[in-house]
Amino acid sequence: MLDAAFFVRWMTAAAAVLDREADRLTELDSPIGDADHGRNMQRGFAAVVTALEAEPPATPGAVLIAAGRQLISSVGGASGPLYGTLLRRAGKALGEAPQVAAEELRSGLAAGVDAVGQLGGSAPGDATMLDALVPGVTEMSTSFAAAAEAAEQGAQATVPMQARKGRASYLGERSIGHQDPGATSSALLFAALAEVAQ
Ligand code: ADP
Ligand code: MG
Repeated sequence: MLDAAFFVRWMTAAAAVLDREADRLTELDSPIGDADHGRNMQRGFAAVVTALEAEPPATPGAVLIAAGRQLISSVGGASGPLYGTLLRRAGKALGEAPQVAAEELRSGLAAGVDAVGQLGGSAPGDATMLDALVPGVTEMSTSFAAAAEAAEQGAQATVPMQARKGRASYLGERSIGHQDPGATSSALLFAALAEVAQ
């Protein structure tokens, strides 16, 4: 079972990996976006960790809701509201339980991913974060490590896709051949989860 401390460790590990990979995420966002994705994620998750340390929530659901709220208020780009919605919706699905099973986390995140698609008007195949989030959440029924691997494959699979949502879509066919920055950061969130679950 996963308790609130586990979720805080996940968010802390996510902040660390996003900090390490910020330059790469920004490089991915340069040719097809506005070169801010690394900085957005770095700033957003740093704010998440600060908030969780200042006031550690008592339940897994409350950790994800607090994290989502911080992302929405601290990230200016499209990714802030989208990731904020993912985590808040997942947190709401977990309810007040002091501990949750991996399967509950999987179904909570699945609800969060649906909410991202609704907010963004996007679906898998549009070359967005959903192309990593959807396979990642699906493979969580196998293991967190399998989820991380599937999300990474999903991020790489955006390279030959034409972007149909977000800034990259303004480039039309010229967006083909570039890995989506948001799909890449989503894969890192799953990597952080697999790391803390070890
Ligand atoms: P911005 O595009 O506002 O500069 P970021 O650079 O932080 O914001 O985030 C860009 C990422 O957000 C994209 O790589 C993509 O994965 C994701 N994204 C953008 N628009 C959408 C959308 N409508 N649906 C799903 N994901 C989206
Ligand atoms: Mg950007």
